[in-house]
Amino acid sequence: MKKMTDKVEPVNRISPFLLVLILIVFILSLSALFMAMQSIAEQTDLLNSYSFLVIGVFGLAISAYMLLQTKGKPSHISLELPRVLTTLECPKCDFKSIRDFQREDYVFKETGSCQKCNEPMKITAIYREAKKKKD
Ligand SMILES: [Zn+2]
Repeated sequence: MKKMTDKVEPVNRISPFLLVLILIVFILSLSALFMAMQSIAEQTDLLNSYSFLVIGVFGLAISAYMLLQTKGKPSHISLELPRVLTTLECPKCDFKSIRDFQREDYVFKETGSCQKCNEPMKITAIYREAKKKKD
């Protein structure tokens, strides 16, 4: 049996509102581009079609930029705080628990007592929490 004293991981927090906004800008710019292409092809109303073209390209650039901005932030936050974890194991009943590393922790040290059978727990591993990074 496995039990973990789980902590809340820093979640990628992009607000759905912002995503919808980006999507709307993206779709609007695409349709502006489409309209521009169409009227350029048909040689009608060239002045308007070029301004649609500019609007479309500009909108695409903005939505791409916003998307990059929202993706960039969370990884920077998680980069600041690498967590070190300590795994404790009960030699008697194999109960496992994981907690934050504390000073004076070392592997095979006996510390605390088992929540199930009250035996002293042993530290079996100390490691830095693995982070999924996309940089
Ligand atoms: Zn135990």
